[in-house]
Amino acid sequence: MDENSFAGADSASDPAVSTAISSALSQALLARYAGPCPRYTSYPTADRFVPLSAGTGSPESGGKPWEALQDVQTLSLYVHIPFCRSLCYFCACNKVITRQYGLASTYLDRVLQEAQWYRERVADVPVTQLHLGGGTPTYLNDSDLTRLIHGLQEVFALQPGEDAEYSIEADPRVLEVETLDTLRGLGFNRLSMGIQDFNPDVQRAINRICPPEQVRALTHAARERGFRSISYDLIYGLPGQDVESLERTIDTVIDLAPDRIALYHYAHLPQRFKAQRLISTDLIPSPESKIAMQLAASRRLIDAGYLFLGMDHFSRPDDPMAAAATRGQLARNFQGYTLMPADALVGLGASAISYSRDGYWQNHHGQKEYAGAISESGQAICRGWQLDDDDRVRQWMIMELMCHLRLRKRDVEARIGRPFAAYFAPELARLQPLIADGLLLNTDDDLEVTERGRWFLRNIASAFDRYLHGSETAAQYSRVL
Ligand code: SF4
Repeated sequence: MDENSFAGADSASDPAVSTAISSALSQALLARYAGPCPRYTSYPTADRFVPLSAGTGSPESGGKPWEALQDVQTLSLYVHIPFCRSLCYFCACNKVITRQYGLASTYLDRVLQEAQWYRERVADVPVTQLHLGGGTPTYLNDSDLTRLIHGLQEVFALQPGEDAEYSIEADPRVLEVETLDTLRGLGFNRLSMGIQDFNPDVQRAINRICPPEQVRALTHAARERGFRSISYDLIYGLPGQDVESLERTIDTVIDLAPDRIALYHYAHLPQRFKAQRLISTDLIPSPESKIAMQLAASRRLIDAGYLFLGMDHFSRPDDPMAAAATRGQLARNFQGYTLMPADALVGLGASAISYSRDGYWQNHHGQKEYAGAISESGQAICRGWQLDDDDRVRQWMIMELMCHLRLRKRDVEARIGRPFAAYFAPELARLQPLIADGLLLNTDDDLEVTERGRWFLRNIASAFDRYLHGSETAAQYSRVL
């Protein structure tokens, strides 16, 4: 595969592609690979993390991956803002539903205190990417959004200008046009909006009412103010959804023309996520219906000119994400695909995850534990993972497959110092059914994801997950479909 043949890059120029989806993706094929599978925003996945502590002399300390921050050249920053005004019943995020705004303001004090802990570790490292996620970051009023960014600027070397990526997850129900002005003034240039579905019945079933007119007005206002790469999150498999209603939502989305679209599968796991117990299981579409929805929605997006980037991501051909995909420059982090992978990520706030070349570390999940840890020691690290040599190789391989759709065996062998086929014999055996199904080519030189295999990147990557196989825990991951 040459570098121009990535993902949707060719697909867009080939009008036969969308019709080819039907033959490439049969219901039977989708059903075969629909079982639980991690999304691999990290490797190992976060559920494997073990207790870690940044406290001195802690007996739990199983490594200090944050010490590698001293060597980084570029940095990403993530801030978790967990507050929301009301509960969406499908939600699986770490959030706090409250109308008591004071809680958010106090939380912000702690986040800025936590930022200080990183001051001496990354003081002058240019931050090329900042992302506010949640919860609902736009829950914060303009004055606190300003306080947050100014506070971060005092600690981190946030890069000005359009070369840096400042993005925010916005809930269109909780976003004023005036806030867009504030955000632009603070340097934000990318906006991601949680849409999920425009169908009023589905919106009622998930307790998230938002008319398309509101999204249209905000999208228009954001464009006028210079936001680039406006992105919508959509979900299929929600209660009350069917193919026809989802197609109507997709048609509205196509009309609004966001630059990027993430089309996620809803994983109904009420035993894990309390909010989902408010959804009647009777309303959840069947696995067959979900497959039909995924096919129909993808077909419509591709027919409208969107490029399929892989996994569940689409972009317009003129979006930088499409060009990066074509050049083989996509990377993956906790927000999904990205154009600007930094050497390390610092995550601030409850449950935020950070990484360096040596591993991952995560903050306390609960508000109480997070607050207690920050006031005690200025940081809230509780778990994580120190990578060993084998982890590093597998981490790199999984990212290669998910972002570049190809793995050169020679490059792997240079890292492991052994023949590929010998080291990865069990993995190759695991991949045989996927190879037989035409999802992957296994040549002398490469493992190469096929056009059809782009829909099954999670399944392909999971063959190399040494912690997944032989464990009993696969069922806790969301199903691919
Ligand atoms: S889906 Fe988003 S807005 Fe809704 S409750 Fe969850 S975090 Fe809050």
